[in-house]
Amino acid sequence: MQVFRFPLAATVASLVVSAVSAQAQQQAVEYLPTTLSPTVTMVQGRGGNIAVSAGEDGVFIIDDQLEPLTDQLVASIRTISDRPIRFVINTHYHGDHVGGNEKIGKAGAVIIAHDNIRERMTTDQFNHFFNDTTPAWPKAALPVVTFNDQVTLHLNGEAVTAYHVPRGHTDGDSIVMFAGSNVLHMGDIFFNGRYPYIDLDGGGTLQGMIAAVAKGVELANDDTKVIAGHGPLSDRAGLQEYHDFLVTVRDRVQALIDRGMTLQQAIAAKPTAEWDSILGETWITGDQLVTFAYNSLTGVDHFTRPESTTTTTE
Ligand SMILES: [Zn+2]
Repeated sequence: MQVFRFPLAATVASLVVSAVSAQAQQQAVEYLPTTLSPTVTMVQGRGGNIAVSAGEDGVFIIDDQLEPLTDQLVASIRTISDRPIRFVINTHYHGDHVGGNEKIGKAGAVIIAHDNIRERMTTDQFNHFFNDTTPAWPKAALPVVTFNDQVTLHLNGEAVTAYHVPRGHTDGDSIVMFAGSNVLHMGDIFFNGRYPYIDLDGGGTLQGMIAAVAKGVELANDDTKVIAGHGPLSDRAGLQEYHDFLVTVRDRVQALIDRGMTLQQAIAAKPTAEWDSILGETWITGDQLVTFAYNSLTGVDHFTRPESTTTTTE
């Protein structure tokens, strides 16, 4: 098992650029741009992975990471192109993917996102997994153009389509296909090399995540470069492997449910044990993944913790 990673034969050009923050009190973030086509670059920094399209029509980006780091992010995009950022597509509502909306929007970009992203950003969001509330975002951070199914931008010589995938990581996810460049941005539907977070409180389900990954596999071919929401670049084979892994987790947890096990008993049965030391140590643990699966499959719409277990993971 390659744990969903990109094959070593990958020959994409990479260089490291350190963007120095204008605000001295902020730690400088290292941004890693990876050229994927003549117009599309993946930028990894702090927060979700970004796709930047830069060409004759200007610049547009998929996601914009964390709010306090927006100046640094924009500076790193400026090293790719100094033309204006015209559009942002948000893949979902989490703060490490929409944080730059307000500043980049005020500078002139049009923010585009699924209807449910705007909906969730408009109201306070309590989350049982983090046991914390994300307050509503200011008006300037909200998407201006929203869609319910899919939307296509015709820019920089290609069609770029965001496809809504229902109830996966959240209830507002999109995966974005750059048809000419043959690049697919999966947002947080795809955590590469680690267990996924499924935001049950935000409308996510394991079943929806599996269906969304299947949609990505369907859109891709053997040459497609696949951007994960978090983790390294991947490809169709990596996405297929991740799909099969999620299906195995689903089937195992469903079998435990069918035997009448409680959540606590299902966690104790350790159905993910073989991957826990490979995929379960970066962030999400095996116990948490089993909880996402169990609650998804039993229709519980938020994260829960077994009664007698004290958790030390947050
Ligand atoms: Zn997310």
